[in-house]
Amino acid sequence: MERDLFASEVSEDEIRKEVQLRPQNFDEYIGQKQVVDNIKMMVKSARIRGHAMDHVLLSGPPGLGKTSLAMLIAKEMGTELHVVSGPAIEKKGDLAALLSNIQPGDILFIDEIHRMHITVEEILYSAMEDYRLDIVIGEGPTARTMQINLDPFTLVGATTRAGLLSTPLRHRFMASLHFDFYHPSELKEIVRFNAKKIKIEMTPEAFERISVCSRGTPRIANRILRRVRDYSIVNDKKVTSLEDVEQALSMMAIDAAGLDRMDRKILQVIREYYAGGPVGIDALCATLSEDRTTIEDVYEPYLLQEGFLVRTPRGREVSQKAIEHLSAFEALDSQL
Ligand code: ADP
Repeated sequence: MERDLFASEVSEDEIRKEVQLRPQNFDEYIGQKQVVDNIKMMVKSARIRGHAMDHVLLSGPPGLGKTSLAMLIAKEMGTELHVVSGPAIEKKGDLAALLSNIQPGDILFIDEIHRMHITVEEILYSAMEDYRLDIVIGEGPTARTMQINLDPFTLVGATTRAGLLSTPLRHRFMASLHFDFYHPSELKEIVRFNAKKIKIEMTPEAFERISVCSRGTPRIANRILRRVRDYSIVNDKKVTSLEDVEQALSMMAIDAAGLDRMDRKILQVIREYYAGGPVGIDALCATLSEDRTTIEDVYEPYLLQEGFLVRTPRGREVSQKAIEHLSAFEALDSQL
């Protein structure tokens, strides 16, 4: 089944282009050592046992490699990967149809699993635990339950918010693995590897610059790399230099800390409209005219990790670091 609903900040075009840059085996999958070590062991055990791998929950911000890892699991297991987005499964019957088409050992990847409809989610409980579908046919006193046995499969659930998963669903995952933002040295390795794939030559300083400006996220590193490639081609650069990367970054309104226009807007709004905070998330989203999930899942985690934003019981506040950063970089937005 095709994946038809993606993390909100990624266009379909970009997803298609990403295919080319996805790691093709565990050696190409850089970083997230703890997650990868656990997965490798689970895959190995499943292969020795000759049975489906245990269900696993992968959590962390978008673009950190959850889908890519699910693809590698299927490849290593030599089975099929079925990808679907949780909120896109509207009816119990859709999930039932999906599950009954699965072959032994296949991987079912459900993205944004915390946003699945509760009635659909309930179907998963017996499917995960006993490889069985319990379907109620009819209504009222004539209603009866039909049971369909399924082939053993592995559910890989991905979520940007493990905390929002219901308890019964969470308990049915045998492992819960969390993805952290990547270290710049790991991103540098990813960028170096992908630069070769898309045939762009760069100086060491150019690689360095991309890796520190990518918000700890391989998807963003790849996005910047492509724009840098475009800049180099259009300007006939044989070897891309630090200055070329800086030009491309400035065209994307990405500053020295890797913050983009929206990151800065969040900080600016808190500084200007709410005297630096604290401000509640709903008021903040209303002022920004932005969806709460996007702010909480896509933007906030990195701003919090880097200390630009502080979360207090009374709401979000900007830090001194953010104030100083804005005064150095907000001119970038008025240039555009
Ligand atoms: P998620 O499912 O967490 O949103 P993806 O698996 O779609 O993230 O990753 C986005 C892109 O980032 C991939 O296409 C791949 O090119 C790159 N990527 C992610 N993780 C890694 C990694 N560990 N090593 C190399 N590239 C990676």
